[in-house]
Amino acid sequence: MHHTDSSTDDGNAAKRLAHLAQYYREHPVTGPAGHSYISSEPRATATNPAAPLNLTVVDHIDASLKELADVTREANPQAGPIPKRIQDVYQWLADNTANSPEQIQQRRDTVLYRQRLEHAIAAGEYKVVRPIRCPACRTLGLMWRQTMQRAVCTNGNCTTKDGGTRRWTLAALAHAQIEAQQKSQRVRAT
Ligand SMILES: [Zn+2]
Repeated sequence: MHHTDSSTDDGNAAKRLAHLAQYYREHPVTGPAGHSYISSEPRATATNPAAPLNLTVVDHIDASLKELADVTREANPQAGPIPKRIQDVYQWLADNTANSPEQIQQRRDTVLYRQRLEHAIAAGEYKVVRPIRCPACRTLGLMWRQTMQRAVCTNGNCTTKDGGTRRWTLAALAHAQIEAQQKSQRVRAT
């Protein structure tokens, strides 16, 4: 099976998460101990008061890696322990899902796509949603609203039944995006 588009996303998601981890390493805070995958280097002594932003990033990294581990073990219960380095986690996921049924590969791609968006949003890069088409009207013009944690469609003709703007979670965008990719791959294959 060809996964040209999604493999680019894999790399992107890995890079972005590594970037977040790097940020965390450079801004050490008092936090949960034992983040062995972050770094083997000694951590700065935790004397600063905890910064909420950094703790959010730590939680985000934790949750992302746990989700990748869940997908991997669902695909292959014999996958073994999660690798310590972030980049290796993505390779581990790829290796263990390479021959999985389409349904699992699609779930993997959707998770990776969503995580790539989440990592960007966590780093304050709200423009990451701009190149994505609105799942309803298929035009460009999504804008991220951080307070709502939703991407809103700025197409004035694209409204809900009661006339409100359409809002999308990152999960909904990822789902629609991977589904559209799969469809176009199937069309190309026939
Ligand atoms: Zn729209």
